[in-house]
Amino acid sequence: MTTPAPPAPSALTAAAGSIDARKTYGIDEAAVHALDGVTVSFEPGRFTAIMGPSGSGKSTLLHCLAGLDSLTEGAVFIGETYLAELNDKQLTELRRTQVGFVFQAFNLIPTLTARENIMLPLMLGGDEGDTAWIERVIDTVGLGDRMTHRPSELSGGQQQRVAVARALASRPTIIFADEPTGNLDSNSGQEILSFMREAVDEFGQTIVMVTHDPYAASFSDRAVFLADGKIVHDMTDPDADRIIDQMKQMGH
Ligand code: ADP
Ligand code: MG
Repeated sequence: MTTPAPPAPSALTAAAGSIDARKTYGIDEAAVHALDGVTVSFEPGRFTAIMGPSGSGKSTLLHCLAGLDSLTEGAVFIGETYLAELNDKQLTELRRTQVGFVFQAFNLIPTLTARENIMLPLMLGGDEGDTAWIERVIDTVGLGDRMTHRPSELSGGQQQRVAVARALASRPTIIFADEPTGNLDSNSGQEILSFMREAVDEFGQTIVMVTHDPYAASFSDRAVFLADGKIVHDMTDPDADRIIDQMKQMGH
């Protein structure tokens, strides 16, 4: 047996992560441990899937990592910043500049065009952003003249592409996506997954995506499995067959 090489220096600098993260809802007999001691870190420029059965704590972990919710115990960090050390104003600023979030339900502003939706987070910060970068993102989203359309004039898949582009616009440290293909047919879902894969491969974007779909997770570089608020498995370069085997082992 050989001794494993020490990790490369770059691997020591995570884009985000948690240390013994715990989140409890309710008290006494009614207490639910949604997160029961999760320690995980996400390397920059990688696409990670978080998998696990319904109720295993996936959304709770993502919301706490993104600063949308707070832990009961433990710590989460984005880059070198521990979220618990920030006041409300600093947390809002960190979320605006360093975190992108993609929801299952798209969450676009109905009265704004696709382009305006993509630009909105930057405009709210009084920030033009990196214009060349934004043009590249808009180019990659591949909506052509539909950029002037409102969400109601776009298909679900097109709306979600806008939502991913919006998350990319500020060049955040990390993008979190909670079941981003959950409301889409398989073709539209595949387009979103390819778009996110491209953002990782071509732009070096870091993405963490919650999904319970083995096919969706097969686009990732790593799949982390949660059960009852704990990490039970961590798989590199997952493919759909290995993911399905793991899910069977977990009793689902
Ligand atoms: P997943 O996204 O994996 O389906 P969640 O993170 O949504 O799981 O939920 C994990 C556990 O925490 C579940 O048992 C769920 O019922 C519970 N839970 C989530 N949010 C709340 C809440 N706001 N109040 C009480 N319990 C909650
Ligand atoms: Mg969920």
